[in-house]
Amino acid sequence: MTSLSFEFFPPKTDEQRSQLDRTVEKLKPLSPRFVSVTFGAGGSTLSYTPDAVQGLKQQHGLDAAPHLSCMGGTRAEIRELLERYRAIGCRRLVALRGDLPSGMARHGDLRYASELVEFIRAATGDTFHIEVAAYPETHPQADDALADLRHFCTKVRAGADSAITQYFYNADAYFAFVDAVRREGIEIPIVPGIMPISNYSQLKRFSEMCGAEIPRWIGKRLQAHGDDAASLREFAADAVAGVCRRLIEGGAPELHFYTLNLAKPTLSVLERLS
Ligand code: FAD
Repeated sequence: MTSLSFEFFPPKTDEQRSQLDRTVEKLKPLSPRFVSVTFGAGGSTLSYTPDAVQGLKQQHGLDAAPHLSCMGGTRAEIRELLERYRAIGCRRLVALRGDLPSGMARHGDLRYASELVEFIRAATGDTFHIEVAAYPETHPQADDALADLRHFCTKVRAGADSAITQYFYNADAYFAFVDAVRREGIEIPIVPGIMPISNYSQLKRFSEMCGAEIPRWIGKRLQAHGDDAASLREFAADAVAGVCRRLIEGGAPELHFYTLNLAKPTLSVLERLS
């Protein structure tokens, strides 16, 4: 079985904490190489992310990696967070620019993820394995696909060790991106991010925001099933497992699942792969 990692968002309420614990108990038997915890836009989960990371490490014994975004933050705030993560034994980070929440005007001291990677390396040396984001279908704010590719390469050269992609449902986009990156002489692992599907309208909304394309045939089928129908989930798991199978056969080094703190949609895909 291919190596796996799982992404969670940090719970803010007791109910969300119990939900995450239940999800982790169900996913843990799959022995993920690591799990990661997102960071709210503009620092909106400033304390929740470290708390969740600490819980996943201490309570569940998992290698937990915080996401860290520079949007809206100062160098001093980022340094403080890095110290906290080092102190609780984290050795892996996902370094991102992040997005500004609507209504928030302040950009922060660092503009791009490449500057954040450079800053982390200067402040902490080789303490952390640094993951960065990659966009096989191009980041939605990029001037064009080639500029985005160049910016990705700059970010890697600033000191990233590996990358996790935005989700996509077109395996060819991933293979073409990896080929283009390799032609630039960059050899780091690029791990596909997989988004299982359990709700079409939510997926459509997310995808419009982050620039992920839902292939027409998948969109049409999901639409026909309607939200929350068991038949939608069966079809969606088959379709996502099909993408994963192609990725594995084509040499993807690992799969990173965006779990949205739910076990079932991820497990349904993985059952079809085993
Ligand atoms: P960057 O690599 O800085 O790129 C952002 C844009 O700027 C791109 O269009 C790029 O082409 C352009 N760019 C880069 N450098 C330059 C330059 N020198 N000049 C001009 N343009 C440039 N968001 C969160 O808020 N919290 C999270 O926890 C989170 N986790 C994520 C995990 C993964 C695996 C992925 C794929 C995304 C995640 N995101 C998260 C979303 C991410 O923060 C957004 O996609 C954000 O808009 C870009 O972040 P980045 O790190 O890719 O930015």
